[in-house]
Amino acid sequence: MVLYAELRINQRMKKIIKLLKGVLKRLGKGQPSRKSPIQPTIIPRNEHSISRNMINRNALKVLYRLHEAGFGAYLVGGCVRDLLFGYRPKDFDIATDARPEEVRRLFKNCRLIGKRFRLAHILFGQEIIEVATFRTHHEKAPEQHAKKAVHGMILRDNVYGSLEDDVWRRDFTVNALYYNIADFSIVDYTGGMQDIKNKCLRIIGDPEQRFTEDPVRLLRAVRFLGKCNLTMSPEIEQLIDRLSHLLKNVSPARLFQEVLKLFQEGATAPTFQLLQKYQLFEQLFSQTASLLNQPETKKLLDEALLGTDSRIQEGKPVSPAFLLAVFLWRPVLQQTERLQSEHLPPYVALEKAFQMVLLEQVKQLAMPRTLQVAIREICVLQHHFNYRYGSRPYRSLEHPRFRAAYDLLLLRAKAGEPVQEVLEWWTAFHTGDHLAREKLLKTGNRPASGKKRSRRFRKKRPVIANPVK
Ligand code: ATP
Ligand code: MG
Repeated sequence: MVLYAELRINQRMKKIIKLLKGVLKRLGKGQPSRKSPIQPTIIPRNEHSISRNMINRNALKVLYRLHEAGFGAYLVGGCVRDLLFGYRPKDFDIATDARPEEVRRLFKNCRLIGKRFRLAHILFGQEIIEVATFRTHHEKAPEQHAKKAVHGMILRDNVYGSLEDDVWRRDFTVNALYYNIADFSIVDYTGGMQDIKNKCLRIIGDPEQRFTEDPVRLLRAVRFLGKCNLTMSPEIEQLIDRLSHLLKNVSPARLFQEVLKLFQEGATAPTFQLLQKYQLFEQLFSQTASLLNQPETKKLLDEALLGTDSRIQEGKPVSPAFLLAVFLWRPVLQQTERLQSEHLPPYVALEKAFQMVLLEQVKQLAMPRTLQVAIREICVLQHHFNYRYGSRPYRSLEHPRFRAAYDLLLLRAKAGEPVQEVLEWWTAFHTGDHLAREKLLKTGNRPASGKKRSRRFRKKRPVIANPVK
């Protein structure tokens, strides 16, 4: 009995010590520094629209655990911005004064990732909640933790700081609002709350310096302008235009990740208009951009993006392979026609053209191999659609990319390419029953090139067997 009582007292003592430690830590690190020259505006719970039932359950669990252990715990970035604008956030990012190792100690389901930024990922089944330790601005960092390239870009930026430090290295004021789980208030150092009300996108700090040190911010600006329907001052618009060439300095792998975000979040059609307006599209898809003066190319892309936006609004998934195939189709077609005029058979011309276009494209955007293969299949099926006899149409129909390829055919017809007849045949074929299909096969065209296939090319494997690295 005595032993049991002692055990309980010990446990209570432990709890009290833990709580005290927490309070001390918060006093020391978590709260904005008292010496800080800029005081934040604290927006109390009753003056903003974010309530806890809008926040992801797992994110809440992480916030509470950090808070109970005595650390500062805040929602920050896109989720606060989106909740205030009334959108459903894509992910819930957390910022804290706990170091990554401290976060790992608190969560069994935690793994630390990242070289450039060391981040904690807390895993809840398939879901990941990202926890970042406050970081300080590049200028304050010692040499071994921070590094700049010759053209002013930041290469490494991994120095821990306070909430106040963390604010100034964020990109836009609307992305620099911190929702504090301690009292459900929002901490605002940069006037982000007013910008949310005014629907205005404002970069933090000196615009030219901030865009130069990380040119991906140019694309992020366009993404937020399009997605949240924001406005920007004309001077910054001109600056984006003037600095668009800096995207050449960004690695194709990082650019590819940003492009996925640009075209997967709704409002892809307005985003595309903005990319063109600020000369950014040519930095991402130079071959396609050079053909935008052709009405068919422009119509194809416009229609595809309007369709994508409707799908996103209906909650349907969008396939990056399909969109990228749409973007690359016109350059592929142009090269195919050129190669055919040099007497290459249509299929070989298409395969070769695709290889050439892809080789150029991956210099700008590093696409994973599986995606390259999928894009190729969608393009090559455009050629197979010309064969409408025997068993070939059944093979095309069973192809895993049939639906995406058919959708591209549909867009090509809408854009004014002479494929209306092919489209009507395929529409009837894929929606028809067995009898209707057999009847269609009797009327189906056997393309001239199909009959006259030269022996030289008959047995050859496709030229593009290996995707571009
Ligand atoms: P979303 O998640 O909706 O795509 P986001 O703004 O949350 O938008 P993330 O990439 O998740 O974008 O980044 C989270 C936050 O990190 C941003 O809101 C911003 O505060 C900061 N951030 C991200 N990228 C940069 C950058 N390149 N420069 C400065 N701050 C950045
Ligand atoms: Mg985010």
